[in-house]
Amino acid sequence: MNELVRRSLTEHRAALDRREYSSVELTHAYLNEIERREPIVGAFLTLNTEKAIQAAAQADARFAKGEGRGMLDGIPYALKDNFCTRGLRTTCASKMLADFMPPYDASVVTRLSDAGAILLGKVNMDEFAMGSTTETSALGVTRNPVNPDYVPGGSSGGSAAAVAALEVPFALGSDTGGSVRQPAAFCGVLGMKPTYGVISRYGMIALASSLDCVGLLTRTSDDCGAVLSCLVGRDEKDATSVMHPNSQFFKNERISERPLRVAVVRELLEDDEISPDIRCATVRAIEVLRERGAELGEVSLPSPEAALAAYCVISAAEAASNLARYDGIRYGRTTDGADDLFSLYAKSRSEGFGVEVKRRILFGTYMMTEDKRDLYYDRAREARGRIGERMHQILRQYDLILTPTTPTAAFKRGSALTPTQRRRADLCAVYASLAGLPALSVPFGRNTDGLPLAVQLVGAPYSEGLLLETAKCLEEVCQ
Ligand code: GLN
Repeated sequence: MNELVRRSLTEHRAALDRREYSSVELTHAYLNEIERREPIVGAFLTLNTEKAIQAAAQADARFAKGEGRGMLDGIPYALKDNFCTRGLRTTCASKMLADFMPPYDASVVTRLSDAGAILLGKVNMDEFAMGSTTETSALGVTRNPVNPDYVPGGSSGGSAAAVAALEVPFALGSDTGGSVRQPAAFCGVLGMKPTYGVISRYGMIALASSLDCVGLLTRTSDDCGAVLSCLVGRDEKDATSVMHPNSQFFKNERISERPLRVAVVRELLEDDEISPDIRCATVRAIEVLRERGAELGEVSLPSPEAALAAYCVISAAEAASNLARYDGIRYGRTTDGADDLFSLYAKSRSEGFGVEVKRRILFGTYMMTEDKRDLYYDRAREARGRIGERMHQILRQYDLILTPTTPTAAFKRGSALTPTQRRRADLCAVYASLAGLPALSVPFGRNTDGLPLAVQLVGAPYSEGLLLETAKCLEEVCQ
């Protein structure tokens, strides 16, 4: 193994600027590591080798002329396979889109390539981002690089695995109800879901539009700040996109002189579902912050059951509507043998979608039928409103909220969990999603089986800088 791949993005930047090695050498180092680790990890669905090497050579040419484009120039990365990439297969890990060649790039892809970052390939995920293990992918198996008997989490399991396996210094994922934070926690890397709307979702294939966010996976908080700085900004092509008041996140000043006020959520520490190792890690994180002068307080949130139920109903209802476009004509693979239009729709959809996707389409459609809507969907929206209000109220008194990221460490591959059990992995993550708040999962030690543990920091809108700064305190004690 080439030791280069161990370095962080920030270290690569400094080394590239000093001409210690070139972007082409760096790109080769990661491509070799991909070749070495993939037989076990299985994070990648499609590689972009040739174009990556070309782009790296162009970056080197810029450096030689003193025309570098900043932090990410010449740095390799991986992309979850639900971001459209022009001329590069984009599958959502579904048979439905197995041959889809997008005619355009997602806005984040354009931004990253304008910044000079090098796309190494597209990585695995749960089909249409529905799941918590990456096992619903129709196109490949991804294993947790820390221990291949365990799942990498999901739905951005390929992104987390690629970063944890040192196959790339950073990756992008999508987070609707924890899909970046949960796999980051399972694989022992950093995972950020920013404030809703601060990164454009144009070209990111929709799951549940009122919850979907582009998410970042890195190995250090400085790296996360560097990538975030490149991605935030208003985009006319996304109606929900908003301007972030800050534009730089890699040198985060302590926001104020007074001590940091941190809220700990009683329900998410005492719940029976939270395993002892996770509880222990959370308590230790609380102590670390207290030693650094933070003031801790206990708060209460609406029950995790209510939050999870609201998330399930809203995300399924929106998913059912977003996925209606895959009818085999406008979008998606077309079945071979159908006698008429309706059987063509039905056959294309039943052949193209996997079990989890079908389950959610049925569930979501049922929730939205005329006589059920007020019973489920309207009540879920009401619960969502209450959760958001309560979170905002807490964040007026506190700078941030500290919780576990997940109730347990990674689970074994193939463990016969029911859909409901699997969804419980999102117990702590869905609050920030429902409220549109920024949240960061920070790796925090390991359990006795050697599996990564993590805690989650949730802040007020646009407080990503503070979250990263706080993560740094936690990072220091874990090194
Ligand atoms: N695991 C969650 C789900 O299956 C989250 C999905 C996501 O954030 N994309 O709904």
